[in-house]
Amino acid sequence: MTDIDILVSEVGPRDGLQSIDAILPTAVKNAWIKAQAAAGFREIEVGSFVPPSVLPQMADTADVVRAALELPGLDVAVLVPNLRGAQDAIESGAHKISIPFSVSETHSLKNVRRNHEQMFAEVSKISELVAQQPQPPHFEAGLSTAFGCTIEGPVSEDLVVASAERLMQCGVAEVGLSDTTGYANPAQVTRLVRKVQAAVGKENINGVHLHNTRGLGLANVLAAIEEGITTVDSSLGGIGGCPFAPGASGNIVTEDLVFMLEAMGLRTGIDIDKLLAVRNILSTALPDEPLYGFIPDAGVPKGFQEQ
Ligand code: ZN
Repeated sequence: MTDIDILVSEVGPRDGLQSIDAILPTAVKNAWIKAQAAAGFREIEVGSFVPPSVLPQMADTADVVRAALELPGLDVAVLVPNLRGAQDAIESGAHKISIPFSVSETHSLKNVRRNHEQMFAEVSKISELVAQQPQPPHFEAGLSTAFGCTIEGPVSEDLVVASAERLMQCGVAEVGLSDTTGYANPAQVTRLVRKVQAAVGKENINGVHLHNTRGLGLANVLAAIEEGITTVDSSLGGIGGCPFAPGASGNIVTEDLVFMLEAMGLRTGIDIDKLLAVRNILSTALPDEPLYGFIPDAGVPKGFQEQ
């Protein structure tokens, strides 16, 4: 990553689409991913390997991965909930595999029906499988509900740190912090990034996955990058919204994130005009889904990115 400062990882095709009822046709997903890669994106989370009975929106993930692997210079990322999903992900040839680990054990039991010990065991098995591959994919764990849980409320920071350490011992290549519920504030982001860095080493925590549910998404990004975080997840048009807060954006809006970073002189490698044009693919295919973002409405300031 020598020619960019921050890696903006697009997660709309996974996090965005899994939160809405409509099923985007495979051809549209492929066109979206292709257009966004052409706008300069280096990493896109294209889907998740979960049973179609649970998330029919993700049933075509293997096909989407196959198409995305054709795109030059793109790291193809997928999410998996368990070993079974990881086997599918490895078979698909995805470059990067992420597993969410809910620091809130109640959330973990509800979401993946596993307690923490069962999750650590699952992560260890996946790490072993990954290590056996001739070309091992990058395997990381996201500490979800790290900033608070819709069921448990506040989540212990000590437990976040202990979980990060344990996940590294289970063989993941790195851990990330996820504000699954949109509860985080910038002071909390600063504190928690520092604590996890101190526990596992700065080189083993590079990414954050933040939501904009309560409007603090970009402020939280800024706090994270000031602490040395270099990978930030976001979704085009903030698609997906938040099922618990109608009218509120879910993921950070990619367009606004790229604008903020580039305006600050942080290189993303992304052409914002090309990025804004990608929205048309989504608004045409999903006319009833709200798309969020300020930059798409306001436009970029005169002279922006022209130098
Ligand atoms: Zn998310």
